Amino acid sequence: MRRQRSRELFQRAVQHIPGGVNSPSRSYDAVGIDHPVFMRRGQGAYLWDADGNRYLDYVAAYGALILGHAHPAVLEALTKVAERGTVLGTPHELEVTFAEHLKSAIPSLEKVRFVNSGTEAVMTAIRLARGATGRAKLVKFAGCYHGHSDPVLLDAGSGASTLGISDSAGIPDGVAADVLTIPYNDAGAVRQVMDQWGEQVAAILVEPLVGNFGIVPPEPGFLEAIHETASGAGALVIYDEVITAFRFHPGAIQDVLGFRPDITVLGKIIGGGLPIGAYGGPAAIMDHITPLGPVYQDGTFCGNPLSLAAGLAALQVLREPGFHQRLDRMGAALEHGLREAAARQGVAVQVNRYGGALSVHFTDEPVRDFATASKSDAAAFARFFRQMLAQGIHLAPSIYEAWFVTGAHTDDDIEYTLNAAERAFAAAARGERG
Ligand SMILES: *Cc1c(COP(=O)(O)O)cnc(C)c1O
Repeated sequence: MRRQRSRELFQRAVQHIPGGVNSPSRSYDAVGIDHPVFMRRGQGAYLWDADGNRYLDYVAAYGALILGHAHPAVLEALTKVAERGTVLGTPHELEVTFAEHLKSAIPSLEKVRFVNSGTEAVMTAIRLARGATGRAKLVKFAGCYHGHSDPVLLDAGSGASTLGISDSAGIPDGVAADVLTIPYNDAGAVRQVMDQWGEQVAAILVEPLVGNFGIVPPEPGFLEAIHETASGAGALVIYDEVITAFRFHPGAIQDVLGFRPDITVLGKIIGGGLPIGAYGGPAAIMDHITPLGPVYQDGTFCGNPLSLAAGLAALQVLREPGFHQRLDRMGAALEHGLREAAARQGVAVQVNRYGGALSVHFTDEPVRDFATASKSDAAAFARFFRQMLAQGIHLAPSIYEAWFVTGAHTDDDIEYTLNAAERAFAAAARGERG
């Protein structure tokens, strides 16, 4: 597969853009290819690169696209709304409609605010928790990714971990002093840290089901420990559902798991492929936000009509009966097929899956937290990745990122993927360069 044009674009890009990429997760540094693939077009489950090669896409913009690329319903909504202005700088009806829609889908939301990214939403949710409780400390979990604001970049997952960066430079000690990071799925650590610091803790922030060091569901007792200790100490619980909301059913994962957080953070899918973030919860908490209360948040593009129209259109499509069941069925076929192919090729893998989201870790140990996820053999993954790419399958260039099945994938796509994976596992086993 020739990727000459991508190479040339990258050579230009590195002269103007740090590392040639606008998000480090897109760098191919961790997979042993000297330049990332520059994509030109996305349609349905496929991407086409600058050289015209076609790829079956499992990155789905890191989970933002649950309908696949350029879905007609989203495009139509966008065209219509853009004709009336892309940003109005005033309140408008779509904000109200979207808020009503989210509230009907997620019962824990009484009021919501729209911002422009998951990063902004988490950043503000933390400020809100601190403002509402009058406390400073934040408890979070190693490897969970919550965007790139200062407090959550300490021991962060996703792109930061791929590049071997546990803590970003540029975060003052004063910020770090108020962040307590403990292992995911460790109820004992939750109880211990809350015993010691509970009175000073504003919030426990968690991905209720992890999507950022692979797909890692909560073990029995873990979320219970979070909610019990938080309510005992007067701390709030923040669920970061940027990956999980609307991915597994037309609502949030909290209602499947049976918990009600104080603040919920949303993003990715709810923007229908445009930038968005949102946070919400009971009025008693949300009314601390300006102009009602003293916790400040604003933004020129917050609630812009484009993101809301695209998001609403996407949320309508995924409410069609059977939508998530179909993703679950294709996810299951991938899970079993990948496991069997790896076994035939003698490669030890852990395939974790929830619905249409899954992850493949090259390790013989079950993956239940960041430490076990990190045991994935990076060299074997890199060989697997290169062989998949050569066969036209686009995965994220990281041992930590999940695969996302979208509404645009078909059974034929899954079958093609499994055949490709057989050869890619063989390459991973042989230590051959793909
Ligand atoms: C992607 C992600 C974020 C950050 O969202 P952006 O829109 O990229 O800023 C936050 N939390 C989780 C769980 C995410 O997966």
